[in-house]
Amino acid sequence: MNQTHEQPLHNSTDHRKFQEFLEEFVPRVEGKSVQLNKACWLLETTGLADAADLKAALDIELKMLFNHPGTYQRLLEWDQEASDPIDKRQLNVLIRSFKQNQIPKELLAKISQKEAHLAQSYAQFRPMIDGKKVTENQIREILKKAKDPIQRKKAWEASKEVGGELAPMILELVELRNQAARALAYPDYFQMQLALQEIDSTWLLHIFDELSLKSDKAYEKLVKEIQKEQKKHFQTDELGPWSWSDPFCQEDPLNNQALDQLVQNIDIIQASETFYQKMGIDVGGILAHSDLYEREGKNQHAFCLNIDRKKDIRTLNNVQSSMKWLETVLHELGHGIYELGFDETLPWLLREPPHMLSTEAMALLAGRQAYRSESLAELVVSSSPELRKEADKSLCRRQLVFSRWVLVMTAFESELYRDPKQDLNQLWWSLVEKYQKIACPNRSGKGDWAAKYHISLAPVYYFSYLLGEMFASSIQEMLYKVTGSRNLTNPQVGKILQTKLFSPGSSMSWVELARSVIGKDITPDAWVKEFAT
Ligand SMILES: [Zn+2]
Repeated sequence: MNQTHEQPLHNSTDHRKFQEFLEEFVPRVEGKSVQLNKACWLLETTGLADAADLKAALDIELKMLFNHPGTYQRLLEWDQEASDPIDKRQLNVLIRSFKQNQIPKELLAKISQKEAHLAQSYAQFRPMIDGKKVTENQIREILKKAKDPIQRKKAWEASKEVGGELAPMILELVELRNQAARALAYPDYFQMQLALQEIDSTWLLHIFDELSLKSDKAYEKLVKEIQKEQKKHFQTDELGPWSWSDPFCQEDPLNNQALDQLVQNIDIIQASETFYQKMGIDVGGILAHSDLYEREGKNQHAFCLNIDRKKDIRTLNNVQSSMKWLETVLHELGHGIYELGFDETLPWLLREPPHMLSTEAMALLAGRQAYRSESLAELVVSSSPELRKEADKSLCRRQLVFSRWVLVMTAFESELYRDPKQDLNQLWWSLVEKYQKIACPNRSGKGDWAAKYHISLAPVYYFSYLLGEMFASSIQEMLYKVTGSRNLTNPQVGKILQTKLFSPGSSMSWVELARSVIGKDITPDAWVKEFAT
């Protein structure tokens, strides 16, 4: 049993009862979550149906641990009395986990049934082009490569068909989610999701507005540049959303394949390992546990997983010789070093980031280095200065384009849950016109908003990335002030990140963590300075 160094003067009985509860409860959560993470790793590296079943079963078992209403009440009472900051924070984490499981069981069951049904419908839906069924990949391929504007328009229109088909079912799900939120006394689901992550929805919408205003001119200029290129490339003056390279205009359409030449002669894993070494951080252990290359049955994307909150941290990648994969490996290892850096003496419950946005900030900051001219000079020693300059420009474009997409999604979701009965297609296009500055073609009566998978199945999610980007730029600015360099390849950088950003884990809220790392609250200013001036 642990010897506690100092008992708080007051409420020592409650303190002791809470400690007894933790000693009994946490090992059960820890055991179940290690099992779940291993099942998840097995599933993603093999694609086996048994692993999928195991993962789903363990997922439910883990949730059930946070279900008991009596325990939830006791946690609330202990929280009233607690004064020790580590007790307080563990209670905060536990209360938020228990709270979302206090939604009536029948309602939770209805929601997961509807979600499962929708997931299946998305997977099975095949739109038609000229009377022929096509896949999503075929549509993406056309938007990436086809030169004929008519063919592009048909493909783009086909990509929206799923929205019209599934919108009524999504609206039923929105209603159920709002019912769940109201059961926990939140005005709607959007606000509940944010509150449970310690995000103030008014602040979020306000800070996104500020970012939008401060980057508006830069984005306007970029859109004109993009349109000029598109008119030239497609030899037409009649542009539309189908002139972009993806169905939602969320990616940089000028993305330059030529940049891949930059990484043609390097070993991406080796270059990434050296990059972190120069920062004074050894990623050898993470790489040794990782699954790095393409294989049959394996998940085709990338992620980082902390199996046990001790030192078993793994990344999954599908490395190929491209800029995308240099960025991705740096990104996932950025998550990895964050997880590796938690103070080992923290209680298990606090060995995690306080919010996804802080670990994303680290990962995004690292991933960006693949496109920053000065970092590229170190990552790829023999790279051509002209190409490196192009990479710099492409990073700026990607940031601006993606930020606009997040603004659309966040504003739309906030309105969708506030008033699902309004004309949602009109709302969707008014936001696309406002933020992405892309004119709406004739789409009345359609359900284009519902064509985006995340609206129904990964709700209230994108905003973390944009907050993460803002935080990343603020961290970069702080590091520059201290080290006098914009490059991260310096042991001093590793040390600052380790002590300030990683080590505290979730012992403080993300707001307090940001203040302690950058000395102020997160604002769009550093991001605007870096990408929109
Ligand atoms: Zn990430």
